[in-house]
Amino acid sequence: MPYFDYPCPTCRSTTSLHDADCQFEGVPWVDVERAYVDIVSVLTGGPCDEETLRREAPGEWESIHHAALSRLKRDGRISEAKSGVLRLLTAEEFREEVSEPTREPMRTLYTKGSVPGCHDNAVFAMIAWYEMVGLSWSETRENVVQWLRETGTWDRGGFEEATPQELVEKKRHVYEAGYGWKEKATAAKRVIDRYHG
Ligand SMILES: [Zn+2]
Repeated sequence: MPYFDYPCPTCRSTTSLHDADCQFEGVPWVDVERAYVDIVSVLTGGPCDEETLRREAPGEWESIHHAALSRLKRDGRISEAKSGVLRLLTAEEFREEVSEPTREPMRTLYTKGSVPGCHDNAVFAMIAWYEMVGLSWSETRENVVQWLRETGTWDRGGFEEATPQELVEKKRHVYEAGYGWKEKATAAKRVIDRYHG
């Protein structure tokens, strides 16, 4: 199955297999990609408001554009000022900003680390998060290993593997499948909050 660079704006699939209720099921992938490219190509020329963006987008502005713009905003690729001005983050800004999660539930996982009883969910969520923000597998592995050490997660125990590297390497399938992080992160946060509370 071919994989695509841009995720479906609604269900985040990067193949032609969408979630069951996805509104873009059956939309040719070239249309999905074009919507993203239309938006990015305008904003590459400089920040502008949404009205200007719609007007200057090379293609006709359709619901897929609307969805793609929302996705880019939610994923932190595009920032929106109070004035409504949209700005494309540089690759470097994006990586710096999102590789340190500032919103819940990821913030709790990131800052407090995991605790026995939710390791599987927490490690899964961390890997899926880094995949989502666009880190390579080796960057992801490095970050998650560092996180396991620096948050004290590894020292709290409860792992079958001999080293953090071995643990993360065993979860590579999570990165490759591009799973969502939200559900696992939410479940892990509940356990972490109880542990510290
Ligand atoms: Zn979809």
